[in-house]
Amino acid sequence: MTAKLVDANNHGKIATLGEKVLIGGQISRDEALWLFNLETSADILDLLSWSNRIREQFKGNKIHLCSIVNAKAGACSENCSFCSQSSHYQTGSPKYGFVDPEPVAEAGEEANKNSVTAVGLVAAWKGLNEGPLFDEICERVREMKAQGKTRPDVSLGIIKSQKIADRLKEAGVECYGHNLESSRRFFPNTCTTHTFDDRLETIGYLKKAGIKICSGGIIGMGETRADRCDLAFELKAIGANVVPVNILNPIPGTPFAKNEPLPVMEILKTIACFRFILPRQEIMIAGGRTVNLRDAQSMIFMAGASALMVGNYLTTLNQPVEKDLQMLKDLGLDPNWDSHDFSDQEEGGCGCGKEKCETEMELATAK
Ligand code: SF4
Repeated sequence: MTAKLVDANNHGKIATLGEKVLIGGQISRDEALWLFNLETSADILDLLSWSNRIREQFKGNKIHLCSIVNAKAGACSENCSFCSQSSHYQTGSPKYGFVDPEPVAEAGEEANKNSVTAVGLVAAWKGLNEGPLFDEICERVREMKAQGKTRPDVSLGIIKSQKIADRLKEAGVECYGHNLESSRRFFPNTCTTHTFDDRLETIGYLKKAGIKICSGGIIGMGETRADRCDLAFELKAIGANVVPVNILNPIPGTPFAKNEPLPVMEILKTIACFRFILPRQEIMIAGGRTVNLRDAQSMIFMAGASALMVGNYLTTLNQPVEKDLQMLKDLGLDPNWDSHDFSDQEEGGCGCGKEKCETEMELATAK
């Protein structure tokens, strides 16, 4: 038998950082990187016990569910190395133009039946300009809003003017999905047809329009732990409300097709570190969950995840929604919200809506 020695000092250091976050403090980049570099399963499970406490402190037992509709598939002009929908690679993924109202309405009905808070319209193209197609998109968002079943979110690529963002807000978009994908340093390894700054600029227009930001990245693309750490701090700096963590599902035909999968403990540790850095945000486990985590999927909540993408992904399959709902029930987690307006992310707010909130009072006395 070979065993790695357990470092007793690490236990104390993880606890100190955990307590700091729990009472409303923040950890530094160096402290976070130290957490990202923990190696043994004893240390990682120790870390998970704290990320679980932090999630419970700021999120209670609520889990935010999202689903997506691939509103325009394939033939994308961009060369993102992980993506099956790029026209630069031969992947056999489906191609079609912008969807009709019916499939979107059906997605809303289905989502509502499964306690899903938000449905996102996702389009495979570089970005948006004004014109008839943009008018059609706004119309689809208005229809979703009028249906009143779920929150209409969109992920429509790069935006180059404030007017577009303002018109989306006017149509009823509450949250826009736009991942940073990885650290600024690693980004050119994922895409060369647009830049990290193009993405930040888009987020700037959206925030100015009053639209909430869903932005995260993909792990397992060949980036270092420092890249993951820097991505989390970048997401903190832009004020992302929802942080999707995707785990690369290597697609044959793409440049990342032969990437080695990340070990399960590395994935869980990454989620936990994100929870330490982003204690109040929705950390959502999105693409690549089932294929990479298999039987360990339920551990994402202990690692600090507070949101889950359910239903199929853009071009790959997920496990059935019923299985996800059962997993939540078994863990005592609740996907049902009266309204999810992100008020639990405000400094000092836990979002429970109670006039005398025990969590807020505790935080106030601890500071
Ligand atoms: S990730 Fe988006 S922008 Fe990049 S190739 Fe895929 S669809 Fe196009």
